[in-house]
Parts: sequence; structure tokens; C-alpha cells
Amino acid sequence: MRIYKVGGAVRDRLLGKPVTDIDWVVVGATTEEMLAKGFRPVGADFPVFLHPKSGEEYALARTERKSGRGYGGFTFHASPEVTLEEDLIRRDLTINAMAEDDQQNLTDPYHGQRDLEARLLRHVSPAFAEDPLRVLRVARFAARYAGLGFTVAPETLELMRQLSESGELEALTAERSWKEISRALMEDQPQVFIEVLRECGALKVLMPEVDALFGVPQPEAHHPEIDTGVHTLSVLEQAARHKQPLTVRWACLLHDLGKGLTPEAEWPRHIAHEHKGLKLIKAFNERFKAPKDCQELALLVGEYHTHGHRALELKPSTLLELLQSFDIYRRPQRFEEFIAACEMDARGRKGLEQRSYPQADYLRGAANAARAVAVQPLLDKGFKGPELGEAIKRERLKALKAYKDAASA
Ligand code: ATP
Ligand code: MG
Repeated sequence: MRIYKVGGAVRDRLLGKPVTDIDWVVVGATTEEMLAKGFRPVGADFPVFLHPKSGEEYALARTERKSGRGYGGFTFHASPEVTLEEDLIRRDLTINAMAEDDQQNLTDPYHGQRDLEARLLRHVSPAFAEDPLRVLRVARFAARYAGLGFTVAPETLELMRQLSESGELEALTAERSWKEISRALMEDQPQVFIEVLRECGALKVLMPEVDALFGVPQPEAHHPEIDTGVHTLSVLEQAARHKQPLTVRWACLLHDLGKGLTPEAEWPRHIAHEHKGLKLIKAFNERFKAPKDCQELALLVGEYHTHGHRALELKPSTLLELLQSFDIYRRPQRFEEFIAACEMDARGRKGLEQRSYPQADYLRGAANAARAVAVQPLLDKGFKGPELGEAIKRERLKALKAYKDAASA
């Protein structure tokens, strides 16, 4: 049997990037031989094994044939006769279809090296169109390597366009999509992921609510970039630049969905878009089965981001309602993430990327003031049950009034 490094490990070494996980392909072996060497089988559908010591993935060389819709609709063929070249041709991009032996001899039948130099994301063969997930993968690699100057090859973009129009994207499961989307959002330039999806028509299919934001104007006084889609991309860009976690990036992507519902007659104003957007955000969350923390933050940011921007003008009672809605007493982290999303929203505007955002510290201070209210003295006074709750609220309101007065003095 012959063993080769494949895929990302080869690509990233040639790019001079750190290699984190290594995938291996094994040519000329049977399942029985792998088991005899102590490899542990994983994956029900095709022969993939974990190395007994390193835990890295070793896949038997295989060919694939499309036999139905979606990812389930594949038949795999693995046998000792399958060659390295036959295994490499089923891969998505030429830069991902190179293999290397233990002497670092490169096998590159589909010219991955040439495309690395040309900074092109190019599909290996027309079989690319057999798995719609590849549309998301290419957009994700575009987001990752945009900083190095990579773009999608025009003929690959054309295939992605055909895939998007074919209805195949609808066969993707939420789990597979989320895995790509969440990784794409964590790349250096997540806005490129959305741009590429939009360019090939996949955004309209997968995220029609985001697609609908392009062409929707906002008031120029607050939004010099005017277009709501362009603004959303800038907010994502800021979120990546400021190294925000996935929850914040997800919330940034979804925060203005409500603006896509505004009747044209009301443009460029978007009255109550925060509230109107909630049902879209909820449906969007559920479509991709986003994790609970992402779902929650997106809904809260959607509903309250304007409150965040207006923090310094909010009445103490409104401020208290905001803090209560976030349950800042038990969920301090989530409130920090809300503040971060608001700040990214404020900076994701043309020419305002460097602006200061005094609202952030003001909101933190307000949260601390409310948290500082001690319960024990109220218990000592004999409050209990619902009355205790009311008394705590009164004290917190007092604390917020004092805080606001001190801040504006
Ligand atoms: P990353 O750095 O994100 O891990 P990677 O290229 O290693 O990038 P993996 O998802 O780990 O990506 O997959 C390993 C290799 O398997 C890829 O380089 C590619 O050759 C192939 N591959 C993975 N998924 C697909 C797919 N859906 N279609 C075609 N080839 C794929
Ligand atoms: Mg990998």
C-alpha cells in the first residue's frame, strides 16, 4: 500500500500557511489490511479509518458516481485498483487535488500548483456539479484566501451558477450547510463568502432574506453607503477585523433582515424594522439549525440594536428594560456580545469604520450599576415573592437614574 498526504495539508504547505489537520489517502489497500494494521474504521458510507496513534484520517482511494439528489445520492467505489489520479479527480478544487508522498514528491495531475500561483479557485472536473455543497465550499475558500488575492475562476463561477439555478442547493441538509457557513463566517473575510454566493445566484436560494437587502436604500445621513446589503457586508467585515466570535458574526449577518420588508413607499426610512425582522431572523435561525447561542443573540441584536446606538438618550426605565431583556445578571457574556454587535453595526458604514462608540462603555457602566444593587438589604426589610422582585426593580431604576445623571454631568 502507498500512503499520501492530500487536500488542505498539501495546499497550505505550498501556500506557506500553518497546517492544522492532515488528511491521508491510501492506495492499493483493502479494508481488511487496514484493520489488520490497527486502523479504526469510521464513516458508515465509505472506507475511512483513524490512525491507531495519531488519530488522523486515512481514506482508501475511491471513485464516486452520482446516483440521485443531494449528498445521499452518491455511490462510492473503493478497491486496491483505484489509482491516486482517480481519487484526486473527484475532489472539488484543483488546489485541493494534490497529493504528496513522504519524500514531498508532488502528484498534481490537475494543475493545482499552477492555480495556486495564478490565485485561482478552479474546479477539477465537470463532476464538480454533482455535489451542491461545493458551492458553499468554494465561497468559503474565497473568504479564506481573498487576502492572498484568490478569486473564483470564471468557468467555476459559471458551474456554481448552473448548480444554483438547478434546484440542487435545496437538497442540502441544514447540518452540512451550517458546517460550511459557520466556518466561512470565521474566515478573515467573511463578507467575500456572501459576495461569492450572491454572484453565482446561490444567495437568492439559500439566504433570500440577505439577498433581498441589496438594492434597499437607507438614509444617507446615518448610512453613507446607502445600500442595506452593502452595509451588511461591511458589518461582517468589521466583525472579522475585530476578531469577533461566531455568535456576533451571525448576529451581524442577520441584524437588518427586517429592512428587506419595508414597503418601497417608505424608503429610505425603515420604521420598526427591528421588530418586523424578528420573524425572518427566527426562520433563518431555524433553517440552518444554528446553535442556541447564535440564535438567541441574533434575535436580541435584531430587536435591540437601535437601542444600543441610542443608549445615551434612553430613559432609565427603557435602559432597565433593555438590561432585563438580556438577563445581564446571569448572562453577562451575552450582553457583551450584544454591545460588540452594535459597535460593528455602527462601524460597518462607509467612512465611519474608525469612529468611536461611547455607547459601549456607557452600556457596560449601566449594566454594572444595575448589578451592583444588593438584594440582602431588601430581604432584611422583609420583602419576599413578587414584592421582592418589584423592590429590586425599583432600586435598579434608582441606580440607573443616578448613573445617567452622573454620566451627563
Ligand atoms: P480545511 O483547511 O478547511 O480543512 P481542506 O481542503 O482540508 O480544508 P476538508 O473539508 O478537510 O478540506 O477536506 C479534505 C479534502 O477532501 C479537500 O481538500 C478536498 O480535496 C476533499 N473534499 C472535501 N469535501 C469535498 C466535497 N464536498 N467535494 C469534493 N471534494 C471534497
Ligand atoms: Mg482538512
